[in-house]
Amino acid sequence: CGIIGFTGKLEAADILVGGLTQLEYRGYDSAGIAVNEGSSTKIIKTAGKVSNLREKVESSEDRSGTCGIGHTRWATHGGVTTANAHPHVAGNITLIHNGIIENYKELAIALKAQGRTPVSETDTEIAALYLDSVYEGDPFAAMKKANEALDGAYGFCIMFKDHPGEIYCMRNSSPLVATSTEDGAFIASDMVALLQYSKDYFVVPEEHIVVMKKDGITLYDMEQNIVSPKMLHVDWDT
Ligand code: GLU
Repeated sequence: CGIIGFTGKLEAADILVGGLTQLEYRGYDSAGIAVNEGSSTKIIKTAGKVSNLREKVESSEDRSGTCGIGHTRWATHGGVTTANAHPHVAGNITLIHNGIIENYKELAIALKAQGRTPVSETDTEIAALYLDSVYEGDPFAAMKKANEALDGAYGFCIMFKDHPGEIYCMRNSSPLVATSTEDGAFIASDMVALLQYSKDYFVVPEEHIVVMKKDGITLYDMEQNIVSPKMLHVDWDT
């Protein structure tokens, strides 16, 4: 329902929880973040309000890191539980998702036959398991396969375990906007979450891939050609 991601020079947890608070007006039932630093990725998630998440994050001793993703969930598949809250982790993949994967049941059957069993009831975790099953070290190749295999609507932000400090995003029908500043690279489902950092942004085109690194953002098409983003500017004051 609400998505935010950041990688750069600042502490990610503060930016993520702040952004999710800005997105609260959209309505949601659970919230969570994943913060990465080097080889460690910490997940903090909970059913309930962003204020519940904020308490959990603030009382966590181990939340430092300058790369991370955050999500507020509006449950479509699976009840409102902490296990069903995003981010979801499968092997090398940590992921958040807005939307609905229509063919998750068929995919789940094929994945179970490979011994890949979900721990939640969500359509989203099936996407994470699928991505992990096709991932061989190249995020683009795995995302392209996922884009072909998944039916439905999605905005994804994905962290690959062996690409620390980087976030890979892709959308089909669900909105994503992105920007970069001297402090780092930002993505969100709604510019409202990013206005305190920048008034310049671009809308991620359908079925394109955004790669966020410490030194900025690059937009690609599915064939991995670099695309120059069409920059937009917000005029109104926050
Ligand atoms: N379909 C996913 C779920 O139920 C994502 C819902 C959302 O967009 O928040 O977990």
